[in-house]
Amino acid sequence: MSSERALPAGLLSALRAAIHPGALIDDPDRLVAYESDALTTSRGLPDAAVFPSDRDELIRVVRLLHEARVPFVTRGAGTGLAGGAVADGGVLVCTTRMHRILEVDESGRTALVEPGALTDTINEAAQKYGLRYLPDPASAAACTIGGNVAMNSGGPHCLKYGVTSDHVAALEVILPDGTPVVVGRGEDGGLDLAGVFTGSEGTLGVISRIRVDLAPVAPEVRTFLALFDSLADAGLAVGKIFEAGIVPVALELVDHATIAVVEASVFAAGLPLDTEAALVVECEGEPGEAEEDLEEAVTAVMECGAREVRRARDESERLAIWQARKKAYGALGRLAPDVFVQDAAVPRSTLPDLLPRFGEIARRHDLRLANFFHAGDGNVHPNLLFDRNDPDQVFRVRAAGAEIMALCVEAGGTITGEHGVGADKVPYMTLVFGEAELAVMRSLRDHTDRFGLANPGKLLPEPTGEGP
Ligand SMILES: Cc1cc2nc3c(=O)[nH]c(=O)nc-3n(C[C@H](O)[C@H](O)[C@H](O)COP(=O)(O)OP(=O)(O)OC[C@H]3O[C@@H](n4cnc5c(N)ncnc54)[C@H](O)[C@@H]3O)c2cc1C
Repeated sequence: MSSERALPAGLLSALRAAIHPGALIDDPDRLVAYESDALTTSRGLPDAAVFPSDRDELIRVVRLLHEARVPFVTRGAGTGLAGGAVADGGVLVCTTRMHRILEVDESGRTALVEPGALTDTINEAAQKYGLRYLPDPASAAACTIGGNVAMNSGGPHCLKYGVTSDHVAALEVILPDGTPVVVGRGEDGGLDLAGVFTGSEGTLGVISRIRVDLAPVAPEVRTFLALFDSLADAGLAVGKIFEAGIVPVALELVDHATIAVVEASVFAAGLPLDTEAALVVECEGEPGEAEEDLEEAVTAVMECGAREVRRARDESERLAIWQARKKAYGALGRLAPDVFVQDAAVPRSTLPDLLPRFGEIARRHDLRLANFFHAGDGNVHPNLLFDRNDPDQVFRVRAAGAEIMALCVEAGGTITGEHGVGADKVPYMTLVFGEAELAVMRSLRDHTDRFGLANPGKLLPEPTGEGP
C-alpha cells in the first residue's frame, strides 16, 4: 500500500526523481522499521523515508519538502534515547547513505565527514595518522556523527575532554528552506553558530557536513576496576578521587543488577556476583603520569571501602572491562523486552544520597532498575525495565521516570546529561528554563524555520501563553 494520499499530490514522485533509484520507502510495512529510536515508548510512522546519497540530493529533498510545506525529521542511526528521530507523519530524511570520511587533515588535526559516518569509523580513519576523535558515546559503533552533533553527545571519555560541542570546528547545515550555510565557532569574527546548531536536535535544519577536531592518541593509558559491597560507598569514592586532585579520563559506575546481567551475557568480565557496585577508572597521560594518577585513584577507592581492585594488565584486559560497561545496555534485553533510560546530570557530591533513592522509587512502582553511568560527570542513567505491551507497566515507568527527574532537578541537577530532550523530555523543560529563556529559543527556531517543518514537537514546549 502506498501512502501518497497522506502527502501532497506529486511529492513522492518529485522526491523519487531527486534521489538515487530505490532510495525512498513509502510502504507502511517497511516504514515500521523506523517507528521508534532506542526509546521504544515514543512511536510514530512517517508517510515516507528518503535516503539521499550526498549533499546535493539532500538539498533537493529539503527544498521539495519546504515547497510542499511538509514536516520532516532527520534520522541518523536511530540510536537516540529521547524519541527525537521519530516522525509522526511527514517525511523521514535518513542520512545513513551519506557516510563518507571526506578528508583527514593530519597537520591541522581535523577531519571533514558526512553526517551519516559512524562515530567509530572517524576514529578508524584518524588512527592511521596517530590521531583520534575524542568524544566516545557508548553507542559509537552504531551511531552517526550527525546524530552526535545534533544531540551534543557525551560518552565515558568526555569527563576530561568535553562533549561533542568541544570538538566541532565547523558545520554545513541545510536550513529548513533548503539553503546551505557553513558555520564556524566565531573564531574569525561573527557568532559561534556551530555552537548554536550543535545540540539543536534537528530542529534548525539538517547537518550535512562536519569538520571535527582530532587529537593525538594518548601515549599511556591505565585502567582499573574497583569492586564495592555498597552502592553508596562507590558513589562516595567518585568524589574522593576528585578530592585527590585527579581528573581521570573516564569514571564509570555499574551497579549489582547490571553486573549480574552482564556476567550472564557474552560480555562477562568475571566480576563476582555478590558485588553491589563497581567503578571503572581510566587515566591517560605521558609515560609515568597515568600510572601515578592510577595509584592515587586506587588509594582513594580503598579509603572508601573498595573490597578489591583489579588493574588491567594489558590491552585485552582493558578492552574486556570496557566491553562489559559499553555493552551493558544490550545485555539488559535478557531481563525485559524494553528499557526506559533516564538521563540527568547531578552534582557529583549528591550521588551517594541519590543512588539509593532511585532504587526506592523503582521499588515503590514495582519496577526493576539497573544503573550504569558516567559517574565522574554526575551523569546518571537509571534504567527502568519493562514491557511496552503492558499499559500498566508503561504507566508505572513514566511515573517513576518523572519522579527520578524531579529528584535530580531538586538536587541541583538538570534534565539531560547527554541524551537530549527529544520528545521524551519536552514536559520537563519548564523545570529548568523560564518562559523568557524558552522564548529566546523559540524565536531562534521560528526565524530559522518559518513554517515549523524541522522536527516539530521536539525539544521545545509550546508557549504557556503567560509570557516571559
Ligand atoms: C546502547 C546505547 C548507548 C548509548 N550511549 C551514549 C553515550 O554514552 N553518550 C551519549 O551521549 N549518547 C549515548 N546514546 C544515545 C545515542 O547513541 C546518541 O544520542 C547518538 O548521538 C544518536 O545518534 P544517531 O545517529 O543514532 O541519531 P538518531 O537517533 O538518528 O537522531 C538523534 C537526534 O538527532 C537528530 N539528527 C540526526 N542526524 C542529524 C543530522 N544530520 N542533522 C540534524 N539532526 C540530526 C534527529 O532528528 C534526532 O533528533 C546511547 C544509545 C544507546 C542505544
